[in-house]
Amino acid sequence: MTVVTRFAPSPTGFLHIGGARTALYNWLFAKHNNGKFLLRIEDTDRKRYTKEAVEAIKESLNWMGLDWDGEAISQFERANIHKEIAEQLVKKGKAYYCYCSPEELEQMREKAKNEGKRTFYDRRWRDADPSTAPKDIKPVIRIKAPIDGSTIIEDKVQGRVEVKNNQLDDFILLRSDGSPTYMLSVVVDDHDMNVTHIIRGDDHLNNTFRQKIIYDAMGWNLPVYAHIPLIHGSDGKKLSKRHGAVGTQTYKDLGYLPEAINNYLLRLGWGHGDEEIIPMDKAIELFSLEAIGKAAACFDIAKLEHINSYYMNQKSNEELAKLIEPFLENDLNIKPSPQAQERIISGMNELKSRAKNLKDLASESAFYAISVPFPYTEKAKSLLNDEGKMAITELLTNFEKLSDFNAKEIEQICKKVANEKFNGKLGKVAMPLRAALTGTTISPSIFHAAEILGIEEVRNRIQEAIKQ
Ligand code: GLU
Repeated sequence: MTVVTRFAPSPTGFLHIGGARTALYNWLFAKHNNGKFLLRIEDTDRKRYTKEAVEAIKESLNWMGLDWDGEAISQFERANIHKEIAEQLVKKGKAYYCYCSPEELEQMREKAKNEGKRTFYDRRWRDADPSTAPKDIKPVIRIKAPIDGSTIIEDKVQGRVEVKNNQLDDFILLRSDGSPTYMLSVVVDDHDMNVTHIIRGDDHLNNTFRQKIIYDAMGWNLPVYAHIPLIHGSDGKKLSKRHGAVGTQTYKDLGYLPEAINNYLLRLGWGHGDEEIIPMDKAIELFSLEAIGKAAACFDIAKLEHINSYYMNQKSNEELAKLIEPFLENDLNIKPSPQAQERIISGMNELKSRAKNLKDLASESAFYAISVPFPYTEKAKSLLNDEGKMAITELLTNFEKLSDFNAKEIEQICKKVANEKFNGKLGKVAMPLRAALTGTTISPSIFHAAEILGIEEVRNRIQEAIKQ
C-alpha cells in the first residue's frame, strides 16, 4: 500500500504557523514511507476566496521545501462529485431529504436548549413518507447517523477516542442550494485522492466522528488518523494574531531560514530524545506518528532564534552575504558594491556568530556597505564630541604611519593613544573610532572591522566624522 497524505488548507491569505507544521508532518510522513504528499485547497468559501490567498499558501510551502505530488486539487471544483455522493447515499437508504423550514428548525433548537440537549434536529424526516414532502421547500440531504451505541476512532496520537452516538446528529451533507457541506466534501475528496493517513490539528477531532459515519455509509475504508495538538502561545491559549506573528511569510520576512523553521516546527510537537537540531534528511529518516506529543506545544520564539542561529552558522560566509542582500536592499536601501560584498564576507565570521536572523545580520553588516556621508545614531554623535574628535584625529595620524594596516597593529595604536592621551582608557579612543567607522555604538571588534574597511575607507570615515 502506498502511503498517501495530504495538506488541506483553507485559503485565508497566509500560511499559519500551525498549518505549516501540519503540512510538514504530512510531508515527512509521506517521505519517510516513500509515499505521496498531496495538496488540496479547501476553497469552498467563495466569499473569502482569492487567487492570491491560494498563491500565498503555495509560496510558503515552496519556501519551506514542502513540495507536493501532482497538481493542487481545488475542493470547490469538485462540488458536483460531492453532490453525486450525497444523492447516492439517499439511494442507498443511508441519507434522506429533509424539508424542514427555518422556523421549524428554530423551534427544535429552542426545545433542545430547554431540555439541555446537545443536538437539536429531531430527525422528523428520517423515516417520513416522501409523498408528504412540501412542494415549495427545497430539501437538504441529511445523513442517517447511528442512533445507539458509540463511535470509536483509533487515533495515532490521541489513542482510542469514543463518542456516544446520541451526541451526533443527522448532519447535513447537501444544502438546499445544492452545495455540499465541508463534512461531505472532505470525506469524498480524501477517498478519491486515496488518502491513507490524515494528519491534522486536533480541532478537527470532533469532525472525525461525523466523517466516519460517511465512510461507513459508503462502505469506504477509513484512513488512519493522527490528530495533533494545537500550538499555543506563551499564555497557554491557542496561537493567534494576538501573540504576534503567526504567518510563515512573516518569519521569512524577518530573515528566518526555512531549514530553521522546519526544524523548529518539527520539534514543536514531535521528539527524538533530546535532540534539538534535526535537519530535514534526518527528519525524514526518523519521523513517526508515534513520537508526536499529546500535549499542546508552546510557541517559543527564543528557541526558534536559537535554531535559526545554528543554521545560519552552518552556511558559508559567501552564502550568507548573498542571503542578506534582499534585506540590505529592502530594509536599508543599500545595494552593496562588489568591494562592500568582499568586506561583508571578510567580516562574516564575527557577524554571523552574533545575529539571530538575516534581518539582524543585514543590519549589523550594513556598516561595511555604506559610504560617506552616512548618518550617525544619537549615541554615536555624542561620542564624536571634541574629545572624541581629538582621539580619532590622533588615531588617524598614527594609522597613516602603519606599513601593514591590520587588526593587531590597529589595536596597538589605539592602546598607545589611550595611554598617551586618556590615562590608558581604551574606551575613550575605541568608542569614538567605532562611532566614526560605523555611525553606531554597536559593532564587532572595531580593530578587525577597521582592518577589513582598509586604510583608505577608514581615512574617509574619520575625516567625515571630524567635520561633524
Ligand atoms: N481545511 C481545514 C483547515 O484548514 C483542514 C481540513 C482537514 O485537514 O481535514 O483547517
